[in-house]
Amino acid sequence: METQTVAELTEKYLMNTYKRAPVAFASGQGARLTDVEGKTYLDFLAGIAVSILGHNHPRLTAAVQQQAARVIHTSNLYLIPPQAQLAQWLVEHSACDQAFFCNSGAEANEAAIKLARKFGAGEGRFEILVADQSFHGRTLAALAATAQPKYHKGFEPLPPGFVPVQWNDFSALEAAVTPRTCAIMLEPIQGEGGLRFPSPGYLGTVRRLCDERGLVLILDEIQTGMGRTGRLFAYEHFGIEPDILTLAKALGGGVPIGAVLAKKHVAQAFQPGDHGSTFGGNFLACAASFAVVTTIEQDGLIQHAAELGTYLVDQLRTLARTHSAITEVRGLGLMVAVELSTETAPQVVDAARERGLLLNAVQPNTLRLVPPLVITRQDVDEAVRILAESLASVTQPVTTAVVGHGS
Ligand SMILES: *Cc1c(COP(=O)(O)O)cnc(C)c1O
Repeated sequence: METQTVAELTEKYLMNTYKRAPVAFASGQGARLTDVEGKTYLDFLAGIAVSILGHNHPRLTAAVQQQAARVIHTSNLYLIPPQAQLAQWLVEHSACDQAFFCNSGAEANEAAIKLARKFGAGEGRFEILVADQSFHGRTLAALAATAQPKYHKGFEPLPPGFVPVQWNDFSALEAAVTPRTCAIMLEPIQGEGGLRFPSPGYLGTVRRLCDERGLVLILDEIQTGMGRTGRLFAYEHFGIEPDILTLAKALGGGVPIGAVLAKKHVAQAFQPGDHGSTFGGNFLACAASFAVVTTIEQDGLIQHAAELGTYLVDQLRTLARTHSAITEVRGLGLMVAVELSTETAPQVVDAARERGLLLNAVQPNTLRLVPPLVITRQDVDEAVRILAESLASVTQPVTTAVVGHGS
C-alpha cells in the first residue's frame, strides 16, 4: 500500500486524535525503519521510548513467535507461568515486592492511584499531590493527575482529589500536604512536560517527607524505566526508593504491557476483587517482556545506554557551540533533550525526517531524542550530522546587521 493510500484511509476511517507525519513504515531492523517506498530512517524516537531493543530484535521476535505458537491468553482466573517469571524478575531487580500487570501506562497509573487510595482509605486519606507539567496518561484519573490544563480542556469534570504543586519546589509540596493526603506522584524526570530534571536533592527531600508523614511515594517510570537513563530505574540515580513504581512503554519492547510494582505493606491493600484486567499479564505480553528484560541485562544495555548517552550529549554540546539555535542540551543516559532559542522544534523534526532521522518535539522549543538502547557511536554521529543540517535548514542565519530599526 502506498503512503498516499494509507493517508487517505487514515483520514477517512480513523478518529482525528493524532497529527501524523506522512510516512508509513513497512519494516525495521535495529535502530532503522524502512517505509513503504523503501526509504530508510534512523530511529531516535523508538516509538516514543518504547522500542528499547530496536526493531526486529531476534530475541524478542523469537519470544513472541514461540509464545504465539503455544498459547496467547487464558485470563487471570488461572496461573500464568510467564507472568510469574516476569514478576519475579522485576521484583528481584527493583525496590518493590509485588507486581500487578496491565496493558498501558495510563492503566498502570490508574492501578497505582487506586492502590494508594485503598492504602489510605482506612484513615480517610485520598488526595494525591502531583507536579505541574506532569504527564501520567489519558484515562480520566491519569488525566486528572496530569497537571497540564491543555490536556483537560473539554473533559471536565475530572475525578477530584489531585492537587497540583510546582515541580521542584519542595516548600510548596510540603505546604500542600494535609490530613487527607495519601500520596505524592511524580515522574523522576518529566518526559512529555519537556524533559525537565529534578533539582539536586529534590527527590531525596520528597522521600523524607513521605516517610515523616506516612505518604505513599508513587514514581511514574513509564518513560524513564528499563535502562533508558543508564540505570534500570531512574530512581537509582537519586538515592531513593518508591513505594509504588509504574512501568509501561519500554517494558514490552513494543508489545503492549504495563506494570505496577509496590512495596509489600502497600501492595497488601489490594485484595481479591479490588482491581483487575482481562488482558493484563497475559502469556504473550509477559513472554515478550521477559525476553526484553533479560536481553537488557545479558547484553549490558544499561551500561551501554549510559555510555552512548554521554557520547550523544557531548556531541550535541559540541554542535551547540557552532549552532546558536541550540540553547541547552540536557540528558541522562539515552533520554536527551535539545532546547532551541526559538519555537521551531516541529519544523526541525520535519526537516530531520526528510533527511532520514526520526525524533520528536516535546515542547515547541524542545526536541526529544530517545533512541533504542542498541544504537552505536556511528548512529549517534549520523543523527548529530542530520540534526545539524536540519537546524541549518530551519534557522535563518543572521548575515547582515539590522540597519536603522530605531531605538
Ligand atoms: C507515556 C507515558 C504515560 C502514558 O502511557 P500510555 O501507555 O500512553 O497510557 C504515562 N506516564 C508517563 C511518564 C509517560 O511517559
